[in-house]
Amino acid sequence: MTNLFQNYGKRININFISGKDEFLYDEHNQEYLDFISGISVLNLGHNNTDINKAFLAQAQKLTHISNLFEIQGQEDVAGLIIQALGGDYKGLFCNSGAEANEAAIKLATKATKRKKLLSFKNSFHGRTLATLSATGQDKVKQGFFPLSKRMLHAPYNEINGLEKYFDDDLSAVIVEVLQAEGGVTSAKEDFLKKLEELCKKNKSLLIIDEVQTGFGRLGTEFGFKQYDISPDIITMAKALGNGYPMGAMFAKSEYKDFFNAGSHGTTFGGSPLAMSVARVVCETIFHADFLQSVQKKSQLIQEEIKNKLENNKNIISINIVGLMIGLKLADNINVQDVIKNLREKHHFLCLPASNNTLRLLPPLIVSEKNITKAIDYIQDVLA
Ligand SMILES: *Cc1c(COP(=O)(O)O)cnc(C)c1O
Repeated sequence: MTNLFQNYGKRININFISGKDEFLYDEHNQEYLDFISGISVLNLGHNNTDINKAFLAQAQKLTHISNLFEIQGQEDVAGLIIQALGGDYKGLFCNSGAEANEAAIKLATKATKRKKLLSFKNSFHGRTLATLSATGQDKVKQGFFPLSKRMLHAPYNEINGLEKYFDDDLSAVIVEVLQAEGGVTSAKEDFLKKLEELCKKNKSLLIIDEVQTGFGRLGTEFGFKQYDISPDIITMAKALGNGYPMGAMFAKSEYKDFFNAGSHGTTFGGSPLAMSVARVVCETIFHADFLQSVQKKSQLIQEEIKNKLENNKNIISINIVGLMIGLKLADNINVQDVIKNLREKHHFLCLPASNNTLRLLPPLIVSEKNITKAIDYIQDVLA
C-alpha cells in the first residue's frame, strides 16, 4: 500500500534516519558509506555543522519574504558565484536545475528572437517540458511525444557535421562539460571550442549546464573552467543548496536587459533561508585550499583505481574528473546487480549512469581512508 505515484519505480527499502559527513544511518543504526551524495547534492556532506548553524540562525530570524523586496543575501551569494565564474555576469535564483535551464532557454529565446535550441544525444537537462525536450535521452520522454520540434539533438563530442545545425533561427546551444547521467562522458576540448566558435559566428548563445558538475564536483569551482571557453549562460542547482532546494542562472551582463520587469520570476527563488545556506556553500567550496583538497582526493582515487581495478576484465573504461567517477562495466554484468551487491554486502551506496556505468559521487569532504575502503569494496564485488 502506498499513497504515492510509482514514478521512481521500486524504491530501495532502507529507512534512513540520520547522516553525518559521508555516512548515513538507518533505523537499526546500520552505517552506510554514501557515494551518492543525494546525486551530487551533498558536496559538503550530511548534517554539516556550518550549514546547520547558518540555517538555524536564519530560520529564527526570517525564512521568506518574496522577491517583491530586496534580499541582501541574493546580492552577496551572486557576488560569490560571479567571482567564481570569473567574468562579467548577472544572476537570478530559482529552485531546481530544471528551472535554471528553463530560465536559460527563455532568456536565449528573448535575447536572440530565435526559436531553435541545440542540445546533444545522451544529455540530461531536466523534466519540465522545455528541458525534457532538450534532453537527449528517449527513455525519459516516453509518453510525452511530440515534444517541441524546436529542439535539435546532435551527437556529443562530434565536430563533423556540427555546422549544419547553425542557422539564423538557432537561439542557443545547451551542453554539459561532462555528461553525468549520460554515462560520465567528458567533453573534448576541441569540441567545446568549436561550439563556442560556431555560436559566436552565428550569434547563438552558449549555455553550459553545470547542475551536476558545479560547486567543486570536478575539482574546480565549475567544470567549464577546465576548458578555454567563456559561456554566455551558466546554470547550476544540486550542490548549491547542499540539500536545500535551490537553482540559479547566470548570464553575461550584456543580456541583463532581456529579463526586465515581468519577464521572469518565482515565488520561492532566493529566499533569505536559501541564501543563508548557499553563502556557506560558496564560501567553503570556492576556496583554493578546499578545491586543492578535492584534486588531491581525485588523485588518490585515480591511484587506487589504477592499482586495484585497472586490469579488472569487468571494467571496460574509466573516467575520473575531480570526484565524479564513472566505471563502464562489461556487457555480461549488470550495473544494477553490482550496486545491489555493494549495498548489501558492504553497506556501500553508489549509483548507475547510462551505458551500464557505475557512478561514484562521494561528498567532497570524504576522508582518504574511506576512498580507499570504497575501492576495496568495488574490487571485492567485481572480483
Ligand atoms: C539533475 C540535473 C538537472 C535537473 O535538475 P533538477 O533539480 O532535478 O530539476 C539538469 N541538468 C543536469 C546536468 C542534471 O544533472
